[in-house]
Amino acid sequence: MILNSMNETPAGEISAIVKRQKEWFASEGPLALEARVELLRKLKSAIKTNEQVLLEALRLDLNKHVDEAFTTEIGILYQEINHTLKHLKKWAKPKRVKTPFIFIGAKSRIIPEPYGTALIIAPWNYPVQLALAPAIGAIAAGNTVVIKPSELTPHVAVTVAKLIRETFDPRAVAVVEGGIESSQTLLSEPFDYIFFTGSVAVGRTIMAAAAKQLIPVTLELGGKSPCIVHEDANLKLAARRIIYGKLTNAGQTCVAPDYILVHERVKDALIPELIAAIEQYYGQDPANSDRFGKIVNERHFKRLTAYLTNGRIRYGCKLNEAALKIGPTLLEDVAWDEPVMEDEIFGPILPIMTYSSIEEAVKLVNGRPKPLALYLFTESREAEEKVLGRISFGGGCVNDTLLHLGTPYLPFGGVGESGIGSYHGESSFQTFSHYKSVLKQTTRFDLPLRYPAEKSRIEML
Ligand code: NAD
Repeated sequence: MILNSMNETPAGEISAIVKRQKEWFASEGPLALEARVELLRKLKSAIKTNEQVLLEALRLDLNKHVDEAFTTEIGILYQEINHTLKHLKKWAKPKRVKTPFIFIGAKSRIIPEPYGTALIIAPWNYPVQLALAPAIGAIAAGNTVVIKPSELTPHVAVTVAKLIRETFDPRAVAVVEGGIESSQTLLSEPFDYIFFTGSVAVGRTIMAAAAKQLIPVTLELGGKSPCIVHEDANLKLAARRIIYGKLTNAGQTCVAPDYILVHERVKDALIPELIAAIEQYYGQDPANSDRFGKIVNERHFKRLTAYLTNGRIRYGCKLNEAALKIGPTLLEDVAWDEPVMEDEIFGPILPIMTYSSIEEAVKLVNGRPKPLALYLFTESREAEEKVLGRISFGGGCVNDTLLHLGTPYLPFGGVGESGIGSYHGESSFQTFSHYKSVLKQTTRFDLPLRYPAEKSRIEML
């Protein structure tokens, strides 16, 4: 079935969904660990049952090739669920901590508890993974969850809504379908936590709405992620890994290398390697390759093609407007104040900028908002230490791209304008948990020292 428009949950129904979840949470309390495990197992099995339908929806919405869709969307979810199931008991266990000696007799614990009812708002670029991965953490921590998928990928939205409806009691997990209006209706509801993935601009709106009710937020945002290639890098390997990171999902990845910042001495040697990698992965005509993704819609296609005049096209730039495809394009001679260097590109256009010393590279990156990701290609420990020590960024890789987000052992998130908070693995559990601190005092004796006008003696009770 081909959809031309999104489904929309009526506003009245949205309030009822949230109300039922809140009432259920209030009457049942946080779900026991066994019940959370059961929900996660059900989610895994529902994804497995619907794998082909999800892959087909991803092809229809974004022309994602099945191999790419599996590794970057479905596979990540299986890994996240498996990792959570393996460690949940340990994460959820209250932790004993020390108590200062002057509180003798007392014991201290930190008890993780769910916030209550969590809202997850997802973007369109990894529409399955980014709707469901945060939900894994929210469920694991014992919250009830409302998921709002992106309206720009309608086949995925309908498929995820159906999968959730057929799998869960809506008092535990539900989907609200729709666009900005539905999102705004949701933001007026009394959620206990909001987890948002999307653009910086909308992130500000979400935080402002959450502030009205003092709802805690995680904001997984975007921005321009630099890719520094130092003069001593293995250029062939760097090019292969940069092109992989840039062209996955046709560049529509929040942590895609946005631009290359290459040492001026190796720029001319790097470019042929970049071209060789593009042609090796996608052939001579990527704009017509079924391995290469399409731009999500006409608005973004037009936005991206406008950047093509912001520099000299060194390679590529073949367009297939009917299929909304832009062939991988390398741009040279770009000024830092051109729109392509001011906006997050979010497409297969790669500006190549240069620097003359690692200090200059650090200064150039630090002169702009803190990036979500940073990549550095070098064989030099000194360059690595300078970059990692002096640039603040969400996360990243040395001598690779993207992979830091594929491991549940690394918290994933931004800093500054690229986001607030993090998730994946234990960090997801922590994000959706409030850590309740409890000091339990003994009643076997009482130390009068702290009381006004009492003598310093231990009173045995
Ligand atoms: P977006 O901000 O336009 O939309 C995200 C979600 O917010 C959608 O569900 C949309 O319906 C909703 N929304 C849009 N406008 C709204 C408004 N005014 N009020 C309330 N809700 C609103 O983002 P997008 O275009 O879907 O995604 C692309 C952006 O997301 C890029 O900037 C990218 O870097 C970022 N992103 C970040 C991550 C991350 O993990 N940090 C991952 C993927 C994408």
